Amino acid sequence: MVNLRIPGPIPVNDDILEAMGTPMINHRGAEFKEILYRTTDRLKKVFSTRNDVYIITGSGTSAMEAAVVNTLSPGDKAINATVGVFGNRFGIISERYGVDLVSLEFPFGSDVDLDILRNCLNANPDAKAVMVTHNETSTGVTNNLEAIASVVKKEYDKLILVDGISSVCSLPLETDEWELDVVATASQKGWMLPPGLAFISFSERAWEAHSQSNMPRFYLDMAEYKRYYEIGQPPFTPSVSCMFALDLALQQIIDEGMGSIFERHASIGRYTRDGITKLGLRIFPVSDSIASNTCTAVTVPEGLDGSKLMSKMREDHQVVLAGGQASLNGKIFRLGHMGTTKESDIQEALDALEIVLPEIGFRGT
Ligand code: PMP
Repeated sequence: MVNLRIPGPIPVNDDILEAMGTPMINHRGAEFKEILYRTTDRLKKVFSTRNDVYIITGSGTSAMEAAVVNTLSPGDKAINATVGVFGNRFGIISERYGVDLVSLEFPFGSDVDLDILRNCLNANPDAKAVMVTHNETSTGVTNNLEAIASVVKKEYDKLILVDGISSVCSLPLETDEWELDVVATASQKGWMLPPGLAFISFSERAWEAHSQSNMPRFYLDMAEYKRYYEIGQPPFTPSVSCMFALDLALQQIIDEGMGSIFERHASIGRYTRDGITKLGLRIFPVSDSIASNTCTAVTVPEGLDGSKLMSKMREDHQVVLAGGQASLNGKIFRLGHMGTTKESDIQEALDALEIVLPEIGFRGT
């Protein structure tokens, strides 16, 4: 069997796949209404929020786009604190919609520096919002979102729009306590689900921003999701199959408890980094303290061919790794460990690496 070790989509357990095979139901009927309300209430528990949470049929990027088009207007200034490819995407989306973007870029492998962020907020007092990625999957770095949110909300009182796509349901995130206005995430990550759904939380302050926003929007207009939610329906035809899967996954998530889920991710993250280091490889983030517990990025040693490494892992050992994106192509590879990843899944990948590395010329450090 293939050991899919990319940072999403993640391997999905059989009971979830079976739930997806449930016969279709009327998405505007009583049965669906029950599923919609039950899953939304449970999503709120995972987001740790009393804010509205909506389910979008779309990938994570749809929820990022929703964050932008529902809170900002063309010409509004926004600061995008980015530490990688997905952070950059938040900037690209907002520029495409005419936002006056201040791109605050940190080197790949590092996290957001709070003093630099403060300087940027001081230099741009008219900025309406700050966008930030909680867990940057392209570099394997987790930002200290609690500290960032404290600066943005308590010190500067700006809107904060969060990409929590590879963090929510895997890493601790407190929507209400940290005053996060919009949090976007997607089903193919820690939720143990196939791709297809995105979830987004929306604070009262976000709703205020929505009432002032004149951004063009249709499919992603949160006002439509709110209006339809009140009658127990989604605004558009949803992925009914994914909703069956979500219903079951959330039952399992609530039964296990968030504390246990966070601890499992912390533990598998440590296990992965320890194993990588023991092989003589280096993790890509500049320090272990910011290394992600959902995705480990590993530096390809000087002189080695990263794509050869990945193809040998895939062809000879059925372990599928992810490469580096954009300027990191060939320079890093990434191993995902979200959802119910077991130590044995990671060990299998580490064992394969131990065989493949010398085959492609690695002589140790
Ligand atoms: N942001 C982050 C942090 C991600 O990990 C991803 C997916 N890898 C995305 C955004 C984009 O999500 P999607 O591919 O579901 O649109």
